[in-house]
Amino acid sequence: MSDILQNYINGGWCDSASGQTFVNENPARRGSVLNRAQASTAEDVEAAIGAAATAFKPWSRTPVSERQAVVARFLDALATAREELARIVSLENGKTIGEARGEVDSALLEGRHHLQQISVFAGESAPRAEGSITAWEQLHALGVIGVISPWNYPMNVMCRKTLPALLTGNTVVFKPASFTPWSAVFMAGLFEKAGLPAGVFNCVSGLGSTLGNKLIKHPRVRAISFTGSTEVGRKIQLLAAEDFTRTQLELGGKSALIVLADADLDAAVEATVKAGFGCSGQWCTSTSRVLLAAEIAEAYTAKLLARCQAMKVGDPLDAATSMGPVAGPTQFDGISAAIAKAKAQGARLRFGGVSDNAEGYYILPTVFDGVTRDMAIFHEEIFGPVLALSTVRDLDEALTWANDALYGLSSAIFTKDLASAMRYVREIEAGMAHVNIHSGFKTPELPFGGWKESGFGLPENGKTGLEFFVERKAVYVG
Ligand code: NAD
Repeated sequence: MSDILQNYINGGWCDSASGQTFVNENPARRGSVLNRAQASTAEDVEAAIGAAATAFKPWSRTPVSERQAVVARFLDALATAREELARIVSLENGKTIGEARGEVDSALLEGRHHLQQISVFAGESAPRAEGSITAWEQLHALGVIGVISPWNYPMNVMCRKTLPALLTGNTVVFKPASFTPWSAVFMAGLFEKAGLPAGVFNCVSGLGSTLGNKLIKHPRVRAISFTGSTEVGRKIQLLAAEDFTRTQLELGGKSALIVLADADLDAAVEATVKAGFGCSGQWCTSTSRVLLAAEIAEAYTAKLLARCQAMKVGDPLDAATSMGPVAGPTQFDGISAAIAKAKAQGARLRFGGVSDNAEGYYILPTVFDGVTRDMAIFHEEIFGPVLALSTVRDLDEALTWANDALYGLSSAIFTKDLASAMRYVREIEAGMAHVNIHSGFKTPELPFGGWKESGFGLPENGKTGLEFFVERKAVYVG
């Protein structure tokens, strides 16, 4: 792979019209240069949309089986490249090599789900004969789709959007996050290898603030599938609404884990560590608030602190590392500021904080307790390895506190009581509810999407993963 990553437009590799590049830094080594990526301009986005628009008609008329064959080849190439790609993801994102392998595996699992689903989805047909009229519903691809993704799951999120878009006959212009251009360019290479026709998939790197408007407001772009912060999602939604451009927005979270008095505490602590500190707390579904029944708060906290003590924070490529750095300087500064604010507002720091290891952007697994509902740490998404522990009286109070959030992405409860578990499932205001399982668990057959300010539009995966990318036409033949 060259030290300069290029854009992939109309089946070819090219530099940005700007002639400018930006540095892709390894977050485990401050100031390092992994490679440089194109600092693209609106002109480059225009070229990519033009290519995708031209490719749309032939691609949308390609038989489903042929589209499936290309995507199957892409998934084979992805499986073959698992180790190489996991290393790239780990190097530019900072997640551990094991977590990066897990990301590739998740993309393969979801990709195979969509590959199978399309046969059923495209084949659904129930024409009705009513008197002299025969009627049916016909599926049509939308056209050019803008895919905008975050850096935390740089290849998995783009696959979860791009593969259903392509399988349903659309063409794509993809803008990756600026922290993770390498895995994006690598994925473009896999599409090329799989023999995807020119223009069907295009990748343009650069700043969202520079490229976003062009992509969202372009008359040939029919839909935007975005994953990222609620703040940027709101901006996209406002712009897209003016032109009735369809949107699918997967946004921020502040997921709560409830631990009741009868819970298996060891299992609850393991789930907290997994979903609180996995990928350095940078899952959208990360557990960030823990609501503890008063009876077990002390015992749970002691076990959690012992687990934090045993965690090894450091080089993400070292197999012994349990947590790598956070993704970059912006993340590091934001998390550091949130930790300082939590202390200033009276939350009690029980473990962690900013690491002394200044080689990379390291934050230790961090635990605050004594957190109350008036504190910023209870409400604001930190997107880092920072847990806010609060004590609650009972399930009533736990549910009130858990639902006291603008976000509603994921959640979990640990209890042995079926009635409590089922009441939580009924009353939690979130797109995902987990009983005795950590808040990040998901499978591709079920929808992946948030409630409230955590999401908008049809969820990814599940039954709607393909639906977002089609129009339906009612046909009547007399
Ligand atoms: P972000 O919103 O800063 O950026 C996401 C993408 O949007 C990037 O590619 C960025 O370049 C682009 N962007 C920025 N400004 C833009 C603009 N004005 N117009 C168009 N695009 C623009 O988010 P991030 O920091 O990359 O990712 C972290 C956030 O993503 C967290 O809030 C996290 O919860 C969320 N997230 C959500 C999910 C989910 O499925 N709900 C999954 C992963 C991450």
